Amino acid sequence: MFPVLSGRPRQDTAPPAAHPSGPAISAIGQALGILGDRWVLLILQRAFLLQVRTFAGWRDELGISESVLAARLKELVTHGIFTPVAYRDGRTRYEYRLTDAGLRLWRYLVAIYSWEHGWARRQGVVTLIHDRCGHGTRPYLTCGGCRDRMSARDTRTERGPLLSFARVGVPRHHRRTATPVRLPAGRLGSCPASMEILGDRWSTTVLAAAFLGVKRFVDFQTELGIAPSVLTDRLRRFCELGVLEAGVTRVYRLTDKGLAFFDVLALLTDWAQRELPAPDGSALVITHQSCGTPLRPVLRCDVCDGELERHGLSVEAPVPGPAGS
Ligand SMILES: [Zn+2]
Ligand SMILES: [Zn+2]
Repeated sequence: MFPVLSGRPRQDTAPPAAHPSGPAISAIGQALGILGDRWVLLILQRAFLLQVRTFAGWRDELGISESVLAARLKELVTHGIFTPVAYRDGRTRYEYRLTDAGLRLWRYLVAIYSWEHGWARRQGVVTLIHDRCGHGTRPYLTCGGCRDRMSARDTRTERGPLLSFARVGVPRHHRRTATPVRLPAGRLGSCPASMEILGDRWSTTVLAAAFLGVKRFVDFQTELGIAPSVLTDRLRRFCELGVLEAGVTRVYRLTDKGLAFFDVLALLTDWAQRELPAPDGSALVITHQSCGTPLRPVLRCDVCDGELERHGLSVEAPVPGPAGS
């Protein structure tokens, strides 16, 4: 069976405190709470790709307000993704290093990059280089049991009896406002399509529910405990992005572009269920149908088919395109 708990001894840091007084929450629900925020994703992306470690580094790279950045870093420390390390620079300052659990998010971020490259086709985005073959790579997901490619269509996803998306809380400061957040261009670009989908937790939760087979407006509403106006907004945006298509009688289906997001959600699920403590019976169990192996995701290079490792990837800055591209 899929491990609900990682079996690691609990760290001296507090367990995820997104819902300190609420009911015990599934690992995937906690992960959506921690990572379903566009600033968090951009902070992590810069930490991985540019080795940004300091408050000033993120502030300057992202153009993020200091109060927002401070709040996000505090949360990421609370959830054990960064650890602050003091250093002297005239006075004592802190740098934020990815913990082991934080470092293991690399595959999730790589999957986001890969989807953005394949489906949003933006120019001017960095290229990931697979060091072993020396080529720009668009990683794809394979099964650790049989080595075949995995997709939404050849997997079965079942939820534990206690897994409820209605328990995914949305802190006030994460609510989407009417004014869109200005995303930075910077050296890396911002993966804008992915940020629309993953950048707030209601969006990610709606998408996760769609992968579990929820199709009707009323079922999303019941499953997620989401306000109709918020749900309408997210479904409309997903249709505009081409991730969902609306049928008659308010039925929504994943398009091929939406189904391709499976890699991202599978890697998020895998990370969450390995790293975060959660009650029994709350796991999302993803099985590769052709071989029967419970999710054991492996990312491979689409050029040489070699298995990707965190240390075997580098980043190539985009070549400036012709004017107007
Ligand atoms: Zn398999
Ligand atoms: Zn390769």
